[in-house]
Amino acid sequence: MRFYDPDGTEYGIPTYPKRLAPDGLAAPVRPMTPGRWRAVHAMMRARRTCPDCQVTFNHVIPTSLGCCPGCADSPVALAA
Ligand SMILES: [Zn+2]
Repeated sequence: MRFYDPDGTEYGIPTYPKRLAPDGLAAPVRPMTPGRWRAVHAMMRARRTCPDCQVTFNHVIPTSLGCCPGCADSPVALAA
């Protein structure tokens, strides 16, 4: 089989046909496109934005609270 040389005896380093490469070696096949980065950033920003006060933080909103600590501490202010 062409290029099948897992021991590196023929080419000096282990070489594989792409579909037979061990996990990890052939992982980064799909490059991140600007569109995919936009989706990732939008998702990250959503996770950092409080659904109650709409403030975007530098850290993600605790999923256990469902809102920022400020809103979690003052639910009365929201009701007002
Ligand atoms: Zn909040």
